[in-house]
Amino acid sequence: DGLFMNMLSRPCRMMLLVNPQSGKGQALTLYNNHIQRMLNEAGIPHTLVITELAEPRPRAGEGETDLSQWDALVIMSGDGLLFEVINGLLERPDWEEAIRIPLGILPGGSGNALAASIHHYAGASPVSSEELLISCGFLLCKGLVSHMDLVSIHVSSSPRLFSFLSLAWGFVADVDIESEKYRHVGAARFTVGTLVRLASLRVYKGKLAYLPAAEEGLGNKVTQQCSNQASSQGPVSLLRRPSRDSPCQNTFHNSCHSNNSFKVRRTEGTPSLSATKALTGPPNTLLLPLDQPLPSDWVVVQEEDFVLVLAMYQSHLAEDLLAAPDATLDDGVIHLFYVRAGISRTSLLKLFLAMEKGAHLATNCQHLVHTKVRALRLEPHSPKGIITVDGEVVEYGPVQAEVHRGLARLITG
Ligand code: ADP
Ligand code: MG
Repeated sequence: DGLFMNMLSRPCRMMLLVNPQSGKGQALTLYNNHIQRMLNEAGIPHTLVITELAEPRPRAGEGETDLSQWDALVIMSGDGLLFEVINGLLERPDWEEAIRIPLGILPGGSGNALAASIHHYAGASPVSSEELLISCGFLLCKGLVSHMDLVSIHVSSSPRLFSFLSLAWGFVADVDIESEKYRHVGAARFTVGTLVRLASLRVYKGKLAYLPAAEEGLGNKVTQQCSNQASSQGPVSLLRRPSRDSPCQNTFHNSCHSNNSFKVRRTEGTPSLSATKALTGPPNTLLLPLDQPLPSDWVVVQEEDFVLVLAMYQSHLAEDLLAAPDATLDDGVIHLFYVRAGISRTSLLKLFLAMEKGAHLATNCQHLVHTKVRALRLEPHSPKGIITVDGEVVEYGPVQAEVHRGLARLITG
């Protein structure tokens, strides 16, 4: 379809995945109290699937999904479950068709950044918790479908990942992971985590480089669109389930169905990525292998001492953190932020407080830099540390990213 937006078909066959353990463990209760009735009143029949505990290797038959039975796939959890679903879709032999299924998100976790972003794009004033859920429930019932950018993330020795929200290193990544232990307080876990981390503020050394985004109006090149190419649909696993502790051991259980007629599409002249076996998913057009020098048109950041590096592709980093106020769902842009070392604790705290209203860029903080890019590479110097993608830990080390404009579809109301 060449349309920017369209509507869910009616009647719509919706699969609703609810993670009973996400956030404060209340997602099922919230479904029963709000969502079930809303969907019924909107005349949207749906099948409830309660997700099971993540396991390194899914049991036989678990999660196997014939997507042709469904018109929409809705996740009621935090951002983590959507991350797994998206990566599961893009690992399927029929990924080109699979990633076209309209996805939906209902905030049921402790990190509900995409839900907050959708609410923000709808022009509504900020709300949180149950109010955000009800708002997202209404948007879901309206059933307007938009394209959403995805970003491919490349590390040295793990398979390529796809990200819909953020790539973080330094302060933000550390807070995200350290605050998992406060998940019982819900979205407030990030506030608590930020205060704890401020007390032990440190510098992160590394090299950052990026490919600037074209100026607006100059025709930002669209990197990738889904084609309508049909492919056979065998029953293949829906979810990819990365192990949080050892991301290198991700199993590609669903990427090699020999009876499938799918062919890997390669763009001529695309640099091949030696370290990644990109069997499925769109090709990369902007990246060279991580062990090769940067392309000549990239910008290398002079500073090598950072407090944080944060790449965002949607507006919200958390329910109450409007990190990239001018981001839109499919602008084809990675909003790159970094904070240089030397910032005081007070100034950093002020930045995060201002971020609640998206006012941090207006504070004229000398240490904060914001730039719009289409690809980036980060090479941390320290041997140990945390890098997160959509709030999930990934392999630590050199990492690069490229935006794939409008690759996924999201129900945005
Ligand atoms: P939160 O924002 O609360 O972290 P997420 O959506 O990020 O919510 O949580 C997703 C994680 O929960 C994923 O790693 C997923 O595999 C895991 N998960 C899914 N179902 C269950 C379950 N029944 N019990 C425990 N963990 C689960
Ligand atoms: Mg999570």
